[in-house]
Amino acid sequence: MNDGSDPLTQRYKEICQQINQLSDKFGQPPPCLLAVSKKQTSEAIRQLYQLGQRHFGESYWQETEQKLNELGDLDIQWHFIGPLQSNKTRPIAEHMHWVHSVDREKIARRLSQQRPHQLPPLNVCLQVNLDGETSKSGVSPSQVLPLAKQVAAMSRLNLRGLMCIPKRHTDFQQQRHCFMQMTDLKSQLISAGLHIDTLSMGMSNDMEAAIAEGSTILRIGTALFSERQKNVTNP
Ligand SMILES: *Cc1c(COP(=O)(O)O)cnc(C)c1O
Repeated sequence: MNDGSDPLTQRYKEICQQINQLSDKFGQPPPCLLAVSKKQTSEAIRQLYQLGQRHFGESYWQETEQKLNELGDLDIQWHFIGPLQSNKTRPIAEHMHWVHSVDREKIARRLSQQRPHQLPPLNVCLQVNLDGETSKSGVSPSQVLPLAKQVAAMSRLNLRGLMCIPKRHTDFQQQRHCFMQMTDLKSQLISAGLHIDTLSMGMSNDMEAAIAEGSTILRIGTALFSERQKNVTNP
């Protein structure tokens, strides 16, 4: 597709089209596209906003703070998808609309306590560690239900569902197998009476498998922006 527009606009339109085509192919409702804008400029975010994109995902608070200042005139839904340290939860509770990376009770409790009362409850997902690698963040599958029950009881949080960052597989069936575990976990939570509606899964390299398994939020960075820049704040 080359309609003479700039590369970012073209990639955005292509991805939106792909999401619709793949959803049709697998008979699933089209997931929401979360544009992962970490290490991208505020100008790029503004450009996508003008094309209709409303959900943006960030991983580092320092960088997010700067973007909130620069983009305060836009009606953006901000999602925090990065690692959470307990001493840095306050600004996230105060400024984000969603947090996808909750993986322990202590962090959840702080976010709930710190969520300002004039705002609606913070939407949260529990990050699941599917591969059992102890180095990675996320709650293990067997601990999802107990944590979900604790979080669901927190008054200033709205437990929406589950998120995962699986190991990188190139094989479609292996990718799909990871996401199937998430679909099963979601069913377990619903059977236990929890009202959840979200599976935050699928990135640039595995979005087709994620759509096949019922993803409701795709988190897409590279495929949309091409490379992340090295010069916009570090970590
Ligand atoms: C960076 C990041 C993404 C986007 O990954 P791409 O492969 O660039 O699409 C998605 N989810 C999380 C949690 C990330 O940190």
